[in-house]
Amino acid sequence: MGEPMLFGLIVFLTVAFATHAIVGVALARGFADVGPRAGLWLGVVFGLAPDADFLFPAAWGWPFVHRGITHSPLFALSVIAGTYAISRSRAVAIAAGLAIGSHLAIDSLSPMAIPWLFPLRATWSPGLDVHGVIATTLLWSASVGVLAWRTDDLAAIEQWLDRSGGVRRRQSE
Ligand SMILES: [Zn+2]
Repeated sequence: MGEPMLFGLIVFLTVAFATHAIVGVALARGFADVGPRAGLWLGVVFGLAPDADFLFPAAWGWPFVHRGITHSPLFALSVIAGTYAISRSRAVAIAAGLAIGSHLAIDSLSPMAIPWLFPLRATWSPGLDVHGVIATTLLWSASVGVLAWRTDDLAAIEQWLDRSGGVRRRQSE
């Protein structure tokens, strides 16, 4: 792989990972009754969880491949059930479910799709460019909108920026 291609792949994956994390956090914070900290880490961890399949060794083969078992609704349901069994918290299970569900929903629209009927490999997708500029802008805007509408996270970030800006100003005086 030439350097420009590798660079392009790194940018693509960074944007894709960031989108899954941001959407996961927005849904977990906005629609599950968990605190800001829990919403943040549940959103990031479960928003990214299916892509842990990038770490499967190539030798393993189906279903332990990218967009294999970890991108199936069956896997998502098992993760939600497992999260509930461990946390004994409906809110935590809902946050995890929203985050992992949003990942599968986004990926299911992409050309590579997801194995809906896992363990069957049959699949279908409208083949949308879900990590392209337009879709990324829409998903990020919607996430910021959910955070603004459902939480006071944006106000907290603004305050934090004000405060650290103020600290910096005072130090330089
Ligand atoms: Zn994925």
